[in-house]
Amino acid sequence: MSPGRASGPVVRVAEPLGAPASGPKPADPAAESARIAPATQAVVARLEALAEAATGDAAVILMTTAAMAADPALISEAERLVVAEGLPAARAVHESANGFAKTLAAAGGYMAERVRDIEDVRDRVVAELLGVEPPGVPELTAPSVLLARDLAPADTAGLHPDRVLALVTEEGGPTSHTAILARSLGIPAVVAVRGLLALDAKALLVDGDTGLVEVADPDATVLAAAKTGPADWDGLGRTSDGHRVKVLGNIGSPADARAAAEAGAEGVGLFRTEFCYLDAAAEPTVAEQRAAYTAVLTPFAGKPVIVRTLDAGADKPLAFLSPDAEPNPALGVRGLRVAFDRPGVLDRQLEAIAGAAEDSSAEVSVMAPMVATAAEATWFAERAHSAGIARVGVMIEIPAAALAAREILEVVDFVSVGTNDLAQYTFAADRQLGAVAALNDPWQPALLRLIAIIGEAAKAAGKPAGVCGEAAADPLLARVLTGLGMTSLSMNAPAIRGVGAGLAGVSRAECEAIAKEVLSAADPVSARSRVAG
Ligand code: PEP
Ligand code: MG
Repeated sequence: MSPGRASGPVVRVAEPLGAPASGPKPADPAAESARIAPATQAVVARLEALAEAATGDAAVILMTTAAMAADPALISEAERLVVAEGLPAARAVHESANGFAKTLAAAGGYMAERVRDIEDVRDRVVAELLGVEPPGVPELTAPSVLLARDLAPADTAGLHPDRVLALVTEEGGPTSHTAILARSLGIPAVVAVRGLLALDAKALLVDGDTGLVEVADPDATVLAAAKTGPADWDGLGRTSDGHRVKVLGNIGSPADARAAAEAGAEGVGLFRTEFCYLDAAAEPTVAEQRAAYTAVLTPFAGKPVIVRTLDAGADKPLAFLSPDAEPNPALGVRGLRVAFDRPGVLDRQLEAIAGAAEDSSAEVSVMAPMVATAAEATWFAERAHSAGIARVGVMIEIPAAALAAREILEVVDFVSVGTNDLAQYTFAADRQLGAVAALNDPWQPALLRLIAIIGEAAKAAGKPAGVCGEAAADPLLARVLTGLGMTSLSMNAPAIRGVGAGLAGVSRAECEAIAKEVLSAADPVSARSRVAG
């Protein structure tokens, strides 16, 4: 969920179309092929109208997309396929656009980045020919509540907080990237609402604090998210008796970095570098990466920043790193595992991070995602040191790594607990799947017991252990994590002040006492109620 309460008219996100049927053969191929140009013109006209109403980058993107849709080569190839191969118009457009996308991908660089645009054009024209809604997030003409099965991270990242009052999805768990991105955009969201798609509602009230979604009166005034006032916090993370727990930001873009800095983050506990490349068709060059990372790090000049190397795969596929098809992508070649076969990609990224550290003057450390063993941690640390990066850590998000925290802390400088994945793998419960969302509750005592093991190992090693999963963003749970020995907490900007203020209100001994209580609870509800008292 993402906090805040809003209500307003519903806009549904259409389901993906898939490839249109390749038959039956049109009875009159000439007439069928003549449908293509007008359909394309309708799409172009709609995109141009949207571009006129938009400003800045959005206007430029929409004009570029319109120009692609109007490309005579795309249209004439589709027309040829109808006449020469007897394909229905929709299928011919699909194949013609795919041919162009392949050529662009092969050209690499800037051209390859246009593949997504051509696919967008393809789906819009196909939808026009089939007389159905185009897939993906529609252009919103008024503030609306978006209703979807689920959204791709790239779709969510492109949402405009001024136009999207709230987001509600049938699928997705509390730690899915849709929920995380919604939180970072400050859009109230409720995910995993069973039966949502079957709901016939013109307007909805969405309460991201309680998870309540109600049918609202379509004629009532639109209610924008209530902004909560800033909590009282002096910007230094510590308990009431002065025990330091750094309050850090989770970021993935320059805008996130500015928001985290403005919210008072003492540094960055997680920079998700893969968020810079969700749309990239080809591996960015070292120079491109260095510039992109510098833009993100600059607001934290002189402050500590942990840059995570690419965490691709499963719910965050990167086109240029996509592995062979796997039956279980979340258990496959993802995170650091991608680098074992392609160490060059990691080495180039480390070189770019070292360069960005120099350019931005941030105090940069690196960490690897999805580490399973101490041997993997050693492998990563050696490569990072060779790239000239002095401080190296790893994420603990696989139960085996939590159980091996002592050995891992012998070979790295710090660890950071990714509670989103640690919960997913502890409970064998897909973090994107609404049906198993309750298992991924960060208040699950079994998850907290693993974190206790990590806290003890960190204390014994005299090294820091942070939490950068969504668990850290809950002010009550932040106290528990402090009591379990975590020395920093990292979260999206909107949560920073609340967590900082929450910590300042309790002593370290109180945190340790509630942590003990929670560890002996039988389930998340009783764990939470013991702390909320
Ligand atoms: C996590 O798994 O908790 C984490 C912080 O990484 P991500 O959410 O990016 O997978
Ligand atoms: Mg993770």
